[in-house]
Order: sequence, then C-alpha cells, then structure tokens
Amino acid sequence: MLPQVFFVFPRCKGGNRQLFSKTLRILLHGNEKKVIHQLYCSNNLIGCCISFLGSWWPILEDLYEERVPVYRFIQKPGDLVWVNAGAVHWVQAVGWCNNVAWNVGPLTEFQYNMAVERYEWNKLQGNRSIVPMILLTWNLARNIKISEKKLYEHMRQVLARVLKYCQVTLDCLKEAGVTVTLQRRAEHEAAHYCCVCEIEVFNILFVTNNKKHQVHCQDCARKTSDDLQGFVVLQQFPMEELYKMYNDFRLYQQSSSRAVQP
Ligand SMILES: [Zn+2]
Repeated sequence: MLPQVFFVFPRCKGGNRQLFSKTLRILLHGNEKKVIHQLYCSNNLIGCCISFLGSWWPILEDLYEERVPVYRFIQKPGDLVWVNAGAVHWVQAVGWCNNVAWNVGPLTEFQYNMAVERYEWNKLQGNRSIVPMILLTWNLARNIKISEKKLYEHMRQVLARVLKYCQVTLDCLKEAGVTVTLQRRAEHEAAHYCCVCEIEVFNILFVTNNKKHQVHCQDCARKTSDDLQGFVVLQQFPMEELYKMYNDFRLYQQSSSRAVQP
C-alpha cells in the first residue's frame, strides 16, 4: 500500500482518525530533530465516540473520568509506531517535522471482520466507505489463495449474500418486465456508490436516464420512482460468471499446496 507523507509545523494537529476499514497504521518519523506527539486510545473503550469525524479533540480529563485507557507518548526521530486496527488516535506535532504513514491490511479474518464491521457501520451512518468491500471480496476470491479457514468462511458468506441479493433483484425485475442491460465492468472501473445514500452498488446499477447518469442503489431508485421510471438498469457481471467464481473459490491448503472442497 502506498505510504502517506505529512509535512507538519509546530503544534499542527491531525484530525482524529480511526482508519478506513480499521486497517493497521504504521507511522515512521523521518526528521532528525523534531518530534511528534501522539495519543490514542483503544477502540472498544471509546466506541461511543466513533461516529465523530473531523477536528474534534478529546479532553484528557473526560477520558480519564470515563476510565478510558489513554496512551500518550512522544514519537522520537526514527521511532516507528504501530497503531493497531480500530484504535482511535490523534497526532500533534511538537516541532517542524515530516513523517510517513502506511495503512496496512494483512489478509486475516481479524482484519477482514473489522473491515466488514466498519463497512456496515458506514452504511448505517450514511457515510461512504473508502473501501468497496463487496467488490474487494469478489476480487480477493478470484485472485487470492485463502488458507485461513475462518476468513474463507466469512468471505464465502459475504459472497453468498451478494449472489442471493443479485438473483432476487434480477428475478423481481424480470417479473416486473423491467429491461436489464448487460454492460460489463471495465478492467479498472471504479466501484460505484449510490448518489443518494452513499452505499456501494455492486453489479446491478440503477442509473438515471438523463444527462447526469447518476447511479442509485435499488432502494433509492425505487424511492424516486416505484416502477423505476427515469432509470435504466445495468448489470455488470452475468450471473453465471458470479456463480462460477463462487464455486471456484476454495480454501487453500498451504501444506499440500492445493485447494480443497469447502
Ligand atoms: Zn441509495
């Protein structure tokens, strides 16, 4: 994953952050003379505050009062800080400095589960997820050999749910006489999000047939027009293709270096 580089001035505060999809974060201090002041506390203990975004900074006394464990330290030049998945943290510079940060997401059930949790939370809050988890899961299933059983089972569950949703939607559309046009996803086409509620729209896109061509999810499209007047429905993957990908997705056994039946 590409590193992020920050050049900061004394007393500069970074906004509070819990990383997208709760990835891990590595901070490397690259300046010889300056230091970074860092503060973070663990996710489950500050869960009630997770929805805040932007520039809110904690009042330490409030955290102490609520018995939220807080770790506060100065990152010295050359120090590497590992912020675990889900940890809410704040950074403030105490001098001129530059620092580099990487978001890293090891492919484990722990990481995947955290990412799915955050994805679902974003949906509830009406926030767009930076990581399109559905598209990502299909891509992982197609391209990566998964050897952790729990991760494999979780991914399979997500894929099955998406398959069911797509199939039910297509059946309903067919029954209602709505035309669905196959328009294959281009190789590097970005994931789609609903222009109204910001959820990821996978495979079946409800697009306004005006000049704006705005993508909607089914719910928002139907809220606009019950019988989908003013929309064209596009399908990006033929169902047979998705079923095949699902069936070909196997738990990979590292020792024997071969895939096994689920
Ligand atoms: Zn929507």
